[in-house]
Amino acid sequence: LTIAVARERAPGEKRVALSPESARRFKDLGAELRIEAGAGLSSHFVDADYADVASAHSLEETYAGADVILRVSPPSPEEIAAMPVGSVLIGLLRPFELPARLDALNGRRITAFALELLPRISRAQSMDVLSSQGACAGYQSGLIAAARCAKFFPMLTTASGTVRPARVLVIGAGVAGLQAIATCRRLGAAVEAYDVRAAAREQIESLGAKFVDTGVQADGAGGYARDLSAVEKLQQAERLARAVAAADVVITTAAVPGKAAPVIVTEEMVAQMRHGALIVDLAAETGGNCALTQPGEHVDVGGVHIHGPLHLASRMPTHASDLYARNLYNFLSPWVREGQLAFDGADEILAGALLCRDGSTVHPLVKHVLG
Ligand code: NAD
Repeated sequence: LTIAVARERAPGEKRVALSPESARRFKDLGAELRIEAGAGLSSHFVDADYADVASAHSLEETYAGADVILRVSPPSPEEIAAMPVGSVLIGLLRPFELPARLDALNGRRITAFALELLPRISRAQSMDVLSSQGACAGYQSGLIAAARCAKFFPMLTTASGTVRPARVLVIGAGVAGLQAIATCRRLGAAVEAYDVRAAAREQIESLGAKFVDTGVQADGAGGYARDLSAVEKLQQAERLARAVAAADVVITTAAVPGKAAPVIVTEEMVAQMRHGALIVDLAAETGGNCALTQPGEHVDVGGVHIHGPLHLASRMPTHASDLYARNLYNFLSPWVREGQLAFDGADEILAGALLCRDGSTVHPLVKHVLG
């Protein structure tokens, strides 16, 4: 079994799919490893860190004869063209974007697993890249908020008097949102949070934050949220507007799988926020939860600063890559026996993440969304 890892080429991507630790663990399973020269450098893993287990090559040499290719971001057309026909590709493949990418993968009969599609079941937790990378993004959002906020996060009692803690509102309390809450709490902010899933209330409260109840509940399939109806959106907006206006910082993380991010913070809500308040919109990559977010930009709307940061996990690439690589090892290693790959096509996790096989796109939700 030959496992290949190339340098990530997507703009802003600093992670790598193989850490020196996971390389050693794959080697112990009998795999041969090939890594492109400099592949780990932006995560601060130098070629020498892999030297005892993986040899460094050019891209073409890395991919030639590979059975399995591990990636973080989706490959470019040139990289797909360098992949061996019939090889296995595993990564965050953004399955709902760019049908042309799926055509290119199918053109080379690549068996592609998109880790965004991994079922959110207990057995898959150790492989869950959305969780590990969401935790990085949530943590980073808390730090960005604290660094940009015009106020202290903690309550401070000084000789000059006492300052009250900053008020943070987190909208969307999934993996990233809960990490944002925990980070802001550790820094001493007074945190309120909101989510449409019923289970979120207890999780928010267990982190010492206050739950904002809008009366809208929208649990969907697989532990995710569903889209809101027009009436629910209106009810949510009315109840949420007060909490948004009172906040010094709003961190938004709401997402619905396979859809653009729901717009929750409207232009009218931003107009009610105080001068100097801050929005950190984690959903910027999929359009944004704030109507005024510009992905990758920082805009000032009447004194309210709106950040749409991209590639948040890449701001802490060493740990993000470490966790991502462990997830990949946990996904792949059960199917490696005596140095050979033996997938069980009936396995719920493999079947759930399978995007392309034998020249066709096979995932039902992706086929439905892309038509
Ligand atoms: P996500 O990134 O898809 O969404 C982020 C959050 O936004 C979710 O909590 C969602 O409920 C919320 N949201 C969506 N629309 C909203 C709206 N209009 N208003 C407010 N909030 C809205 O989700 P995620 O963080 O990847 O996780 C979602 C679920 O998966 C959670 O239930 C989590 O506990 C579960 N999970 C399970 C596993 C596992 O068992 N393997 C692993 C990770 C997460």
